[in-house]
Amino acid sequence: MSDVTESGSLAGSVAGPAGSGPDVTTTKSEACELAPTVGEVSCLRRTTTASQATGSDRLESGVAAPMSSVRHESSSCGREPMPTAEDLAIAGLVPLSSVDWPDHLVATVFCQGCPWRCPYCQNAAILDPRMPGILPWPDVEELLVRRRGLLDGVVFTGGEALRQAAIVPAMERVRELGLGVGLHTAGAYPHRLAEVLELVDWVGLDIKAEPGDYREAAGFAAGVKAWDSLELVLAAARARGGCASGAESPAARPFAYEIRLTVFPGAPAERNFASFLARLRAVGVEHFALQEARSQGTDEIFQAMAERWDRARWRSRFEEMAVEARAAGFITVEVR
Ligand code: SF4
Repeated sequence: MSDVTESGSLAGSVAGPAGSGPDVTTTKSEACELAPTVGEVSCLRRTTTASQATGSDRLESGVAAPMSSVRHESSSCGREPMPTAEDLAIAGLVPLSSVDWPDHLVATVFCQGCPWRCPYCQNAAILDPRMPGILPWPDVEELLVRRRGLLDGVVFTGGEALRQAAIVPAMERVRELGLGVGLHTAGAYPHRLAEVLELVDWVGLDIKAEPGDYREAAGFAAGVKAWDSLELVLAAARARGGCASGAESPAARPFAYEIRLTVFPGAPAERNFASFLARLRAVGVEHFALQEARSQGTDEIFQAMAERWDRARWRSRFEEMAVEARAAGFITVEVR
């Protein structure tokens, strides 16, 4: 899931065979966009740019192999078989990023599909959950094995990374390879978040508004799910030590998180920013990131809206919000 400002942004030009060519991401941004027929990936929910996505032959040719449509035979008892990592519908891969997980070098996997429709989303091309993946999981593992010793971990993002049950075995495979697991999510699937949290070392969770404002902020009245997910993340941080990067915790398996808000003029959380901050602090959030929505890669409606913004006034308002966030009592505050 990415958006214009939820979390960083990852712009990956898909080129060359896996791992070939330069591919360290260093630029901060915040939205995701992926043009499946061309193979460019960018994600705004985090912070990235310039990488070279892998599995590229498929991406470059625009051939979308129906990875996720391959189902296992049903068992004799009639139950749906357990998913495997190979079932994960992958929309893109950035083989090396330095900005998707603070202080870590990672490979970033873009998962296909998202149930929400945030107005500032830059990932329109990968939101459709019916679309198959275009990169097979074994290509991801091949990259991880080849770059053993260079990578600290893998970040799963999207779309909404937790939409697919196959995320669980995929994370398990990453752990088996001795790598850390990072996750970008908007919190749309709290039950699956609870299922994977013990596999995860770091979470970037997008909280888009107060619960009652989600229909406007994300297209669906799903605020309870997002805030339930927030509670799960905070509980994991309390149990395993919570810091911004995961580098300082004394716990054996440190857990770190960042709660992210993407704002634009007139967004519900912009209108009610003081109340939003107070609510985050009241539930115990200590690590917060304020991200500015970008119009690049968004749909025509949002772009048209962005053209009407009074830029000078918005710049002033955003800086005011940054000051407010820094004074709210969080331990760490990132402004992007
Ligand atoms: S629609 Fe989905 S991928 Fe796009 S910004 Fe919203 S949660 Fe993220």
